[in-house]
Amino acid sequence: MAINLDAMRAKLEQSKNGFKKKGDSTKWRPQQGDQTIRILPTADGDPFKEYFFHYNVGKNPGLLCPKKNHGGSCPICDFASKLWREGVDNNDEVAKKEAKNLFARNRYYSPVLVRGNEADGVKIWAYGKTAYESLLGYVLDPDYGDITHPETGTDIVLTYTVPNTPGSFPKTQLKPRRRPSVLCDDAVANCDDLVSSVPEIDTLFQRRTTTEVQALLDDYLSSDANSESRSSETAKYNTESKVDAAFQKFMNG
Ligand SMILES: [Zn+2]
Repeated sequence: MAINLDAMRAKLEQSKNGFKKKGDSTKWRPQQGDQTIRILPTADGDPFKEYFFHYNVGKNPGLLCPKKNHGGSCPICDFASKLWREGVDNNDEVAKKEAKNLFARNRYYSPVLVRGNEADGVKIWAYGKTAYESLLGYVLDPDYGDITHPETGTDIVLTYTVPNTPGSFPKTQLKPRRRPSVLCDDAVANCDDLVSSVPEIDTLFQRRTTTEVQALLDDYLSSDANSESRSSETAKYNTESKVDAAFQKFMNG
């Protein structure tokens, strides 16, 4: 029987376009209530990725911490640590609070297929430490094992609860289905295509150099009302003295 070229073209199209989108269209957020997801395996054997971000640096979105992610040095970590020590030494709650806001926070990422929306392809789900630990707990529990395995893995029911009280965080509860199941059957999608369409999560974020992070921190500190009179000292190229100067301004402001 001759090969069906139309079908092959369609498969190629799907492989090229259907599952390779990056950026915002790849991200998935749970809705209030229950939804069922399946976490997919990644080529490197670790589908639960941990990243560290600095939030609250001006209007910037979360900035990848060069130190905790890539082993470089990080001006924001250095600044936040100094600020914290000063806050502790001087019993300064405002400094301590600001330091806490600037500390690197971990966030976790996994490729998922959302049940009922399989045609949308593989999405990237971002979650917090509690969910991360509960996922690792299931993987290490012999009753579940590798929940991401395409043949013998397990779907997970995710219950997302958004609290009514302002200031409290949404809760994510995870419960594996009672029975294992295949990632997908032929009626849903080609399973191999799905697995090979899992994006490299690393490529979804903008990696910043130490110098870039320094510049963003400087911008943030110089625009801060507390440090409007920055000295010419901050113009020095020396990273250390820039941080020190900005820090002094911040503390003296
Ligand atoms: Zn950092």
